[in-house]
Amino acid sequence: MPNHLFDQIARRMPAEDSPFAHLPDGRTYRYADVLAVSAQFAHALVALGVTKGDRVAVQVEKSIEALMLYLACVRAGAIFLPLNTAYTPAEIEYFLGDAEPALFVCDPSREEALKPAAMQAGARLETLGVRESKGHPAGSLSELALGQETRFADVECSADDLAAILYTSGTTGRSKGAMLSHENLASNARALVETWRFTQQDVLIHALPIFHTHGLFVATNVILFSGASMHFLPKFDPAQALALMQKATTMMGVPTFYVRLVDHPGLTQDATLKMRLFVSGSAPLLAETHRAFEAKTGHAILERYGMTETNMNTSNPYEGDRIAGTVGFPLPGVALRVSDPETGTPLPAEEIGVIEVKGPNVFKGYWRNPEKTAAEFRQDGFFITGDLGKIDARGYVHILGRGKDLIITGGYNVYPKEIEGEIDAMPGVNESAVIGLPHKDFGEGVTAVVVPVKGAAISEKSILAALEGRLAKFKQPKRVLVIDELPRNTMGKVQKNVLRDTYRDLYKAG
Ligand code: AMP
Repeated sequence: MPNHLFDQIARRMPAEDSPFAHLPDGRTYRYADVLAVSAQFAHALVALGVTKGDRVAVQVEKSIEALMLYLACVRAGAIFLPLNTAYTPAEIEYFLGDAEPALFVCDPSREEALKPAAMQAGARLETLGVRESKGHPAGSLSELALGQETRFADVECSADDLAAILYTSGTTGRSKGAMLSHENLASNARALVETWRFTQQDVLIHALPIFHTHGLFVATNVILFSGASMHFLPKFDPAQALALMQKATTMMGVPTFYVRLVDHPGLTQDATLKMRLFVSGSAPLLAETHRAFEAKTGHAILERYGMTETNMNTSNPYEGDRIAGTVGFPLPGVALRVSDPETGTPLPAEEIGVIEVKGPNVFKGYWRNPEKTAAEFRQDGFFITGDLGKIDARGYVHILGRGKDLIITGGYNVYPKEIEGEIDAMPGVNESAVIGLPHKDFGEGVTAVVVPVKGAAISEKSILAALEGRLAKFKQPKRVLVIDELPRNTMGKVQKNVLRDTYRDLYKAG
């Protein structure tokens, strides 16, 4: 029966003995295995009573079987709901309560700890582990799948049926479930394959987690939609990535991967000679990292911009200038504009406002939250991303931070990125985060949190002195805090909410 997403994957599949994934234990997973094992998992889901539209929540370590479970959900018409492996049982309780999955799949080692949460939500609990070296997959769901047929009659699903719910990372407020349809995922995979020129000859270094849109949809769906293959790694290790660059053609990473590569003595032109493309996204790539990487390798990292709710929106060009500090142009089929945050009036080039997008990539709304959904869409169907930015005269999109990070001090708007750019350019500064903290006179006090380069002698005084005359008075930080490390989530995003919380009383004392 027609299954909108899986049919497109199946139609594009290369010869069945072509490689799909090279695994850490030395196995090569072929496209024939993808078909067979995803069918077995789909049968297992059906055997457990999962029917079309049921949510299947999954909190497991990264494994090829977990990817097969994703495809099995697509084939069985279920809604795949991956959860960050770092979530605690108390957090899982919230997600299960909200999503009400029919089935919750966890790592065998966490079964006992998560049993109460599953019971409370009325979800059946099964386990899926990283395959054991002896050759048997670990976990009750894997065992069940092993005995099933290797062909499966896919459940009929239309373009608008849901394929997945991904909870937003929640760096600004409570996590919400973004409902993603078969066509949301398929249209984005097609657009990225075309934009980044993926073919069956490509070999991707995949070191991202698969509970997030980047590793799950961007990386995996691009491979599936181009019939390419990947080195599927449990986590990112710069030395391992460098070694694999001899056998790979492309890598997708978060900015932290590139920072770590630039710091590695093995990063040279020779080491990256066989590679054709490095993609970065999920958080801003410092212009400095972009330049350092290019100086060492000759490769201009291609930065793209997206979010859980919209999949990918923009990309720097494959051919043409990849400009550091920008996220390029809207992808084919995606409309993007910058609007006045208050009135929603579209703004001309170079003016800063909120980024809004519309297209087949944009999600179907927040799970069981029609009010929140309605609040984040304009009347004409554009989704308000909450990211502040501008489109420059050449059409490149620039991101200037999350709207919630905008600082309003004494009635003036201050864009943190502008101040961070000034501070980051100072000698001895590794990176910085500028936040607004409650201030009795100004509403919010501009505050810079700065991480020095190891051993560098920087201080609040030296930074404030260096900023004098470079920024308008109202933009100058009232305080500069020098710390060792910025708090980050697993995708490498700086958690400004954590910083705001930690230092919320800074201006109270004085
Ligand atoms: P998530 O939903 O976890 O993927 O987070 C999406 C958010 O990450 C976006 O709304 C942006 O704020 C940020 N983001 C993603 N890609 C970039 C990028 N290339 N540059 C700056 N911010 C980015």
